[in-house]
Amino acid sequence: MHYLDHNATSPLRPEAREAMERALSVTGNPSSVHAGGRAARRIVEEARELVADAMGVAPGKVIFTSGGTEANALALRGAVEGALETGERITRLFVSAIEHDSVRAMAAALTERVPGLRLETIPATADGVIDLASTTLNEGKGRALVAVMAANNETGAIQPVETIDGLLFVDAVQKPDRYDNASYISLSAHKLGGPQGVGALIVKDGAPFAAQLLGGGQEHGLRAGTQNVAGIAGFGAAIGRARIDSTLRDRFEGGLKGPIFGKAVPRLPNTSCFALPGIAAETSLMALDLDGVMVSSGAACSSGKVKPSHVLAAMGVSDDLARCALRVSFGWNSTEADVDAALAAIARLEARREAA
Ligand code: PLP
Repeated sequence: MHYLDHNATSPLRPEAREAMERALSVTGNPSSVHAGGRAARRIVEEARELVADAMGVAPGKVIFTSGGTEANALALRGAVEGALETGERITRLFVSAIEHDSVRAMAAALTERVPGLRLETIPATADGVIDLASTTLNEGKGRALVAVMAANNETGAIQPVETIDGLLFVDAVQKPDRYDNASYISLSAHKLGGPQGVGALIVKDGAPFAAQLLGGGQEHGLRAGTQNVAGIAGFGAAIGRARIDSTLRDRFEGGLKGPIFGKAVPRLPNTSCFALPGIAAETSLMALDLDGVMVSSGAACSSGKVKPSHVLAAMGVSDDLARCALRVSFGWNSTEADVDAALAAIARLEARREAA
């Protein structure tokens, strides 16, 4: 089988598996004061240092969560409610049109729930990059919060987050890096070879923030609940490991005939979003799967939905073409054989389609 869906989830790296196995053999709640508790706590704090180090922040700024979705919700709700508490109300929430659904849905819900909070959409260009020229981010009264992802999960297009001033939230799930100008940064372990179900939110000094889960005082009192010790250990072991270059992606795209989305702009080196015109993505997915090649149609989370991707729609791609869009994403264990198998399977699919 050829697994080419690393943006949906990346296989567990051996270092992460080993760290998790070690952590699983420790019995203790990280909040307990006895030796077992202290051992568990040490595992959590060592991983926190590794995450903090990779992100260029102090360990105290890292809040472990159950994944990217929770980190995104925590950033948005935490910021808006935190600002209410300090009296520096956030009145406008700018969210890019290409954000992950976990950001879009939470932003929309918040603007329904919080009186006086307005949602503004930052449009995208045809290449899938946010169009800052057509948006005034700080116009009007009250504070604004801007939510822009570091890189898009469907096209891989890298976003100019470092050019944004003011209160900024960066979903860095697909591009975990240092973002000095961001007040909030979300991460997810399973996109980088760590386990599923664990992530983190980084909240910088001075950023308004209100905890959402209360009780046990874990995570510096900012996210209660017993930590996922083994998951956190795997996250720490996976972050900061070498990422791949564009060799495999370029070899793959060299063999494609149809349109490639976002090709003209800087992209993640592992991601290729393309269309096989005239073949519905569901059909391609199934045919490639039968041929042993696992890819995705747009975001994995929207697979199964008939609606074409909101990202491609924001780029002005027609519904007809967007319905034929696939995403291939490589990762730490991908090989040239995977690329060649995918290209051969696509060629067989296209040949069958032409013969039909
Ligand atoms: N943000 C982006 C950009 C993503 O690609 C994903 C996963 O698809 C998420 C957030 C959600 O992360 P998780 O699966 O850890 O909840």
